[in-house]
Amino acid sequence: MAALASLAVFVFTFSSSAITPARAAEALPLHKSHEAFGYENDTTGPANWATLQKEWAICGDGKRQSPIDINKVEPQKSKTPLMLTYKPGAATMQNRGHDFMLKWKDGNGKLTIEGKEYTLQQVHWHEPSEHTINGTRFEAEMHMVHEDPSKARAVLSVLFSTKAGLPSKLLTEMGPYFKNLAGKENGEEQVKQPVDPTTWLDKTSGYYRYDGSLTTPPCTEGVIWTIMSKIADASKEQIDVFKSVTKRVEPNARPAQKLYDRIVRFYEA
Ligand SMILES: [Zn+2]
Repeated sequence: MAALASLAVFVFTFSSSAITPARAAEALPLHKSHEAFGYENDTTGPANWATLQKEWAICGDGKRQSPIDINKVEPQKSKTPLMLTYKPGAATMQNRGHDFMLKWKDGNGKLTIEGKEYTLQQVHWHEPSEHTINGTRFEAEMHMVHEDPSKARAVLSVLFSTKAGLPSKLLTEMGPYFKNLAGKENGEEQVKQPVDPTTWLDKTSGYYRYDGSLTTPPCTEGVIWTIMSKIADASKEQIDVFKSVTKRVEPNARPAQKLYDRIVRFYEA
């Protein structure tokens, strides 16, 4: 009886994977990377990321890690407005297991920092926020990830608060995609209209800038962080959608990292 039962299981597994081989192959690396690290206070949690893979050691011993708590800042005398040239572009929304990610097909959005051009690749959301201000954690944080031709990264971040109870225009726009992909790990959906992030940023906001890292393994350093100083509005319902990314409710925010000798610069609008 036991042998028969295990044979039946084997046949079932084999035939279901045989039906969708292409899909399974595409989904596998994403699934694997999600399972490799987590946010709980356990063996795969943030405190242990450095020990999970050799290439992730910097998560533990790096001196320029992100996120950080923004408290002491150095106000800059000269005005340096953000140089953004974003355009509408075709994009897909993905459920990466630990977050939702909107990915543009072609790099038509650019952020210029000190004469260097970084192309907008993708946007994803953390719930609650990873960066904190004077110890205050906000309900969510959006990361707009840019890359230059040498693969150097610059991330533009927006913090969201539900305090005012006002909905976010961009989260309303993306709402139907978050809902469709809720709980569907590795799910992907084409966004119907070209997505233009120009209006996603408050032009009357100043920003903080510091030298940091990716906030997920491999925690690679050399990332230029720009954090909008004005907190954006979102409704509670919009934040709750982020909790639906997996069936397991798991906040996806890494705790604040030590600043060491770094300086956080503040640029007024
Ligand atoms: Zn992020």
